[in-house]
Amino acid sequence: MLTMQMRMVHRDSVWKMPSRRFADGEVVMGRWPGSVLYYEVKVTGYNDVSHLYTVKYKDGTELELKESDIKSRSSFKHRKSQSSSSSPSRRSTSRSRSRSPGRPARGRRRSSSQSREPKDDKKKTIQETNLALLKPSENNTRRYNGEPESTERNDTSCSVLEQKLKPDLEIERVLEQYSLRPRKEEKKKEEIYSEKKIFETVKTVEKPSSKTKELEFGGRIGTFMLIFFLPATVFYLLLMCKQDDPSLLNIPPFPALESLWEPRVFGLFLLWFFLQAMFYLLPIGKVVEGLPLSNGRKLHYRINGFYAFILTAAVIGTLLYFRFELHYVYQHFMQFAVSAALFSLGLSIYLYIRSLKAPEEELAPGGNSGYIVYDFFTGHELNPRIGSFDLKYFCELRPGLIGWVVINLAMLLAEMKIHNQSMPSLSMILVNSFQLLYVVDALWNEEAILTTMDITHDGFGFMLAFGDLVWVPFVYSLQAFYLVGHPIAISWPVAAAITVLNGIGYYIFRRANSQKNSFRRNPADPKLAYLKFIPTATGKGLLVTGWWGFVRHPNYLGDIIMALAWSLPCGFNHILPYFYIMYFICLLVHREARDEHHCKQKYGLAWERYCQRVPYRIFPYIY
Ligand code: NDP
Repeated sequence: MLTMQMRMVHRDSVWKMPSRRFADGEVVMGRWPGSVLYYEVKVTGYNDVSHLYTVKYKDGTELELKESDIKSRSSFKHRKSQSSSSSPSRRSTSRSRSRSPGRPARGRRRSSSQSREPKDDKKKTIQETNLALLKPSENNTRRYNGEPESTERNDTSCSVLEQKLKPDLEIERVLEQYSLRPRKEEKKKEEIYSEKKIFETVKTVEKPSSKTKELEFGGRIGTFMLIFFLPATVFYLLLMCKQDDPSLLNIPPFPALESLWEPRVFGLFLLWFFLQAMFYLLPIGKVVEGLPLSNGRKLHYRINGFYAFILTAAVIGTLLYFRFELHYVYQHFMQFAVSAALFSLGLSIYLYIRSLKAPEEELAPGGNSGYIVYDFFTGHELNPRIGSFDLKYFCELRPGLIGWVVINLAMLLAEMKIHNQSMPSLSMILVNSFQLLYVVDALWNEEAILTTMDITHDGFGFMLAFGDLVWVPFVYSLQAFYLVGHPIAISWPVAAAITVLNGIGYYIFRRANSQKNSFRRNPADPKLAYLKFIPTATGKGLLVTGWWGFVRHPNYLGDIIMALAWSLPCGFNHILPYFYIMYFICLLVHREARDEHHCKQKYGLAWERYCQRVPYRIFPYIY
């Protein structure tokens, strides 16, 4: 009877919806949320308005999937799992753990298997995860909301302490409690997820178009204007800073063209860029894996930014020893900025042209709108590489960031020379030391950049090329540049107070970033046992105590406090040295909104619950 009914439903649905590929009752392979893995599911319905299939996993979980996330069973073959568990939550935990630098042997093992990856990946079906939320009214199905049902209970958070003594089993238990796995049908668990089996496609299936639909930065018009507005802002700020009276109303005259361009300066800029590229290529420092790309592949990155900094310091020290006049940078500052801007424009054009030939799966999720200007600005290709040379990763931390410190040093020397001082001013020392600490910290913790939006989401285009090569070195050094022409004497107690402020900001920034990074690498780390988190269906938890329970972006708070400490040594005569903190607050508020949007998509209700538990975004009781 049931079979007959199912056949009728099948016949009916096929009759009514000719475009539908899978029939009710059909057993097919459904993609697991957030992964490239497929599990056996049964089709239980189809919505011909949204064109989504309701499928039932063997544990009873029902989700709505797009047709492109469903494959017929015949396109799969079994293979023995190399993992001890095929639970999605377990997999993501071990994935994070294997990224820990403290586990080299495991890392090596993974690397060797990694070498087989591209081949395997070709075989894997490459799909976007497109899970749609089921409407609550569909009471015969469990709602997938990015969060497991059990978190609907009173206590939504777990302590890492609970997992301390028996990490594997207990993590399994804790995550299982909140995962989409069955809790009742323990016996069935093995067969349900075929613990020892992972399904893998043997056919390559066409990837659906992954066009960027939600445009950011004001869309096409906004990005078009930003391409002109950003360079104009840099030059305006530098011209203002050069004036004796750098007040906002004192608009600087347009400079003579020869003061903007000097081939020798451009040559020096190129020399600097390629010197950093050479340091990047040195086979020193460990090689780590980035986060999985949309096709499941992981890129390798060499972590040697700190070594590059040491080598640069040695080169600069040698130049100074041989009486090279570093304040040349100050004298030709505008020409250096123009050289960097032209270079970044050329680089962006090259990046866009080469991205036109890049395979769809290598395009940036945020920069593939099909609009030339928008994609040119936001970056069309996610990880453009020449061989193993990763252009975006290199530019993010090397030429601009290390260049910023060198510019600051040049300003310090220029101040001493111009004002005939045997020692730099206290203000200049503070600005130089605070910003040096910031850069060294970024290079020391270089690996952390691999999980940032810049690397995982944004493509490499004008925005990042200009940001990394022009904005960071020439705008972030504005305070030091300002102090050369507008010296300020500050007292020791004031200097001490500003240093304490910078220390507080740095402490919050570093502790918050380290806490999250450690938790992401190894949620069962005994050192984090005191922390509570909200589990999510992706297997990752959201910390709700510690720094991440204080505000939702404690690291931004620390960064902003530091930004204030960098401006204060410049006194209160002009607003210009405060440009950085004003811009930075806007940047981080906008960045926070972007991240919030992505997290809502990733974690669904779990994220909303986190927002309820931690209501303030950056500033406690304010915002
Ligand atoms: P964050 O380091 O703030 O990371 C955001 C991500 O952290 C989220 O996408 C989410 O990713 C994860 N996350 C969010 N909440 C939680 C939680 N409660 N528990 C665990 N994980 C959570 O992102 P940014 O890349 O924006 O910033 C990195 C650093 O760089 C910051 O310190 C920032 O101040 C600094 N920065 C500096 C700039 C400058 O010009 N000086 C510019 C931009 C940033 P998931 O869950 O996927 O892990």
